[in-house]
Amino acid sequence: MKTITVNGRSYAWPQAPTVVVCIDGSEPDYIEIAVAGGAMPFMARMLDNGANLRAQCVVPSFTNPNNLSIVTGRPPLVHGISGNYFLNPETGEEVMMNDPALLRAPTLFPAFQEAGASIVIVTAKDKLRRLLGHGLRFGQGGAICFSSEKAEQATLVENGIEGVTALVGMDVPSVYSAELSEFVFAVGCKLMESRRPDLMYLSTTDYVQHKHAPGSAGANAFYAMMDGYLAQLDEKGAVLCLTADHGMNAKHNASGTPDVIFLQDVLDDWLGEGATRVILPITDPYVVHHGALGSFATAYLPDSTDAQEIADRLSGLEGIEYAAPKAAACARFELPEDRMGDLVVVSTVHKVIGTRPELHDLSGLEVPLRSHGGVSEQTVPLLCNRPVDTAGRSLRNFDAFDLALNAAQPSTLVQPDP
Ligand SMILES: [Zn+2]
Repeated sequence: MKTITVNGRSYAWPQAPTVVVCIDGSEPDYIEIAVAGGAMPFMARMLDNGANLRAQCVVPSFTNPNNLSIVTGRPPLVHGISGNYFLNPETGEEVMMNDPALLRAPTLFPAFQEAGASIVIVTAKDKLRRLLGHGLRFGQGGAICFSSEKAEQATLVENGIEGVTALVGMDVPSVYSAELSEFVFAVGCKLMESRRPDLMYLSTTDYVQHKHAPGSAGANAFYAMMDGYLAQLDEKGAVLCLTADHGMNAKHNASGTPDVIFLQDVLDDWLGEGATRVILPITDPYVVHHGALGSFATAYLPDSTDAQEIADRLSGLEGIEYAAPKAAACARFELPEDRMGDLVVVSTVHKVIGTRPELHDLSGLEVPLRSHGGVSEQTVPLLCNRPVDTAGRSLRNFDAFDLALNAAQPSTLVQPDP
């Protein structure tokens, strides 16, 4: 049987259309409570008959590093995408990590395409599109890769498809809506019907999870919507594997205001104004979600500063879960040292790290802050619509394609005794 090896991992050739879904910000409670309350009837059956597992995501528990880990099968140390945002040491500029030039490893898609597989990738937000589609051949008979956000602009040459809104019968939804993710599933189902690709990757946005707690009406409605589309994919004979890029937790105090440690203020106070530079890798253009407040930060220190001493002082502050010099933190979290500051700082479950109060625009926050980024958002679901044998393995979310292709295919199923 044909196998494809990418980044040192081998994948069996799909025998049925194989769909991996990254549900952005899907803390395990969302699905568990929705299933228990009857909002996800397909999922309830799927978990009974398939695999209901948990996995650890990449820290920083942010969107870009985890999506790239899922599609490369490796941690950021290998693929290089260490945040949504970073300080480029070559230019000294703070930039978004959405440029394929920053990728240090191929995704598994080009190797599959090379071997003859048809590929469909749909992401809610455009910030991920170029990274996910890097190295693919588009045009007639090529791969399909586009975002809901920019679906209207999709062309055959750049995205392998055009006329997406007509195909799906939906207008392009607002970037701040549940419908942006619904669009991903709706188009996924349409393309499963019309193209029946060998591999499909669907990646949603966490707009709903940033606003609505597990079990709330807003969350359950979102998961019920998803359930209907997943049932359709299952019905069409797809192998399904679902995971999340990160979890999500409430990050506010009793009065509903964000519970923030302003790290730049702390370091200015200790080492002098302008001596250090705090970078928040959660930063992205979609600030309405979170005001750039998450549970992970990195800081650049003056050469003369003892990073261990500062880390020790920070560790003593209430609300700091972890602070360490770069080398130790990058070893623990498998991150590229050249894309991290001298210090890595992680806050506790209900706290976030900011720079200075005046640098965070919180005007878009309509509800008490929910966010992610830390170790506290590391546990995510890993679910398949077929049983898989994972005995003795400690699973990561970036094992999703491994499970889907190597463990959940029809022929890898253990036949029950008659
Ligand atoms: Zn995310």
